[in-house]
Amino acid sequence: MYATIHDVLIIGAGPAGLSTAYLCHKHGLSYLLLESGKAIFQGIANTYPEGKLVYASKPKDAPEPFMIDELRPPDKPVTVESYLQYVQHFVQHENLHIQTEVDFEDIKDERDGLTVITSKGSFKGKKVVLSFGSNIPRELSVYGDAKMVAKNVDDAGKYIGIKTLVIGGGNTAADVIINILKAKREVNDTQPVYWAHKAETFDVNKETAQRLGEEILLGGNIRLLPGAMPRIGEVDDEGVDRLVIRINEFKQVDGIDLYHAMSFPMQNVIACIGSQGPVPIFDKLNIQSIACTAGVCKIAKEGERLVLLSADFESSRKGVYVIGGAISPSYMKINQGSIAEEKHPNLIYTAINDAYHVVEAIRGKLGK
Ligand SMILES: Cc1cc2nc3c(=O)[nH]c(=O)nc-3n(C[C@H](O)[C@H](O)[C@H](O)COP(=O)(O)OP(=O)(O)OC[C@H]3O[C@@H](n4cnc5c(N)ncnc54)[C@H](O)[C@@H]3O)c2cc1C
Repeated sequence: MYATIHDVLIIGAGPAGLSTAYLCHKHGLSYLLLESGKAIFQGIANTYPEGKLVYASKPKDAPEPFMIDELRPPDKPVTVESYLQYVQHFVQHENLHIQTEVDFEDIKDERDGLTVITSKGSFKGKKVVLSFGSNIPRELSVYGDAKMVAKNVDDAGKYIGIKTLVIGGGNTAADVIINILKAKREVNDTQPVYWAHKAETFDVNKETAQRLGEEILLGGNIRLLPGAMPRIGEVDDEGVDRLVIRINEFKQVDGIDLYHAMSFPMQNVIACIGSQGPVPIFDKLNIQSIACTAGVCKIAKEGERLVLLSADFESSRKGVYVIGGAISPSYMKINQGSIAEEKHPNLIYTAINDAYHVVEAIRGKLGK
C-alpha cells in the first residue's frame, strides 16, 4: 500500500522540473519533485563554469513569452551563482515539495496509476513528467550485479583515509584527482589515489596537467594504472558492492591467461566516464523513439533516434510526459495524424514553457 497517490511525479529539478512543480503547486495539483543531485538545479550547477552569465535567451521565431515569469532569468544577465541563489529562495518561499538525492530508476504501470521506482523506494502518481535533462551519467559496463554510473565529486573530503580509484582518462578525471589529492594532503593522509584509464595514455590539457603536476610535487600520492579495464561489479560475502579492475594481462602460450586485478569497494570508486543522451533511458522505459532516415530530419543526423511525443509532450507510454533538455535539440511530434521532427532548442525558455504546456494538458486530463 502507498500512503499517497500524487497527481504528478516529476523527475529532475532543473528549470523544466521545477517549473512543473511550481505550476502544480499553483493550481492545486498534488505533486512531488524528485532530484538525484544534492540540490535543485544540480544539472546547471554541475555544467556551468563558475561566474558564467545566465541569459534569458528566447529563439527568434518563438511565438510565446516566458510563460512563468518567476523563474525566467533576468533580462540583464546575472551570474549562475546569483541565479541559483534566487531559485533556492524561490523554492523556500513557495515551500515546494522536493526530495533530493533520489535517483530515478524505472516506471511500472499499475491498475490505478504509475509507480516510479527510485533509489529511495517507490512513489505513486497518476502522471509522470520526465525532466531529467540531456546529461545522463553513463553506466560503467562491467559484468555482474553491482552497477556503477558516472559521478563527479562534490566533497573530496569523503575520500580522506581511503584508497580511492578514479576511472577515466580526461580533464574531468584529472580535476577530480587534483581535488582529492589536495584534500588528502591538507590533512596528511597518505592513502593513495589510483588513476585508471583503459587506454595506455592519459589525455588532459596543458593547464590541467600543470595543476596535477604541482599537486604531485607537493606530496600528492597518486598511482597510475594505464591500460586498466573495469571488469566485474560484484557483491562480496559481506554484502559490499565492489569493482574488480584488471590492471594487466599476460597472454600465455598454453592459452591460459594470467591477470592482475584490484578490487575496490564501489564507494571508493569515482567514474569520470562522461554522460550520454537520454535515448538508452527511453529504451529502458519502453518509450518509443523513431530513427531519422535520409531526408526526414533537418536537425538530427541520419540514424539518430528521436523520442516520439504528442503535441502535449505525452510519450508512447500513457501518462508519461517528457520535457526540457531531455528532448533537445529535436523530437518527433505527432500532430493531427502526421509525425514530423520538431525543433526544440535546449534553453531555459524552452524548459519553462514546456512545463507550462504539460501542466495545462495534465490539468485538462485530471479535470483540475
Ligand atoms: C554551459 C552551459 C551554459 C548554458 N547557458 C544557458 C543560458 O545562458 N541561457 C539559457 O537559456 N540556457 C543555457 N543553457 C541551457 C540550459 O541550461 C538548459 O536548457 C536547461 O538547464 C534545461 O533544463 P532541464 O530542466 O530540462 O534540464 P537540467 O537543467 O539538465 O535539469 C535536469 C535535472 O534532472 C536531474 N536528474 C538527472 N537524472 C536524474 C535521475 N535519474 N533522477 C533524478 N534526477 C535526475 C539532474 O540532476 C538535473 O538537476 C546552458 C547550458 C550549458 C551546458
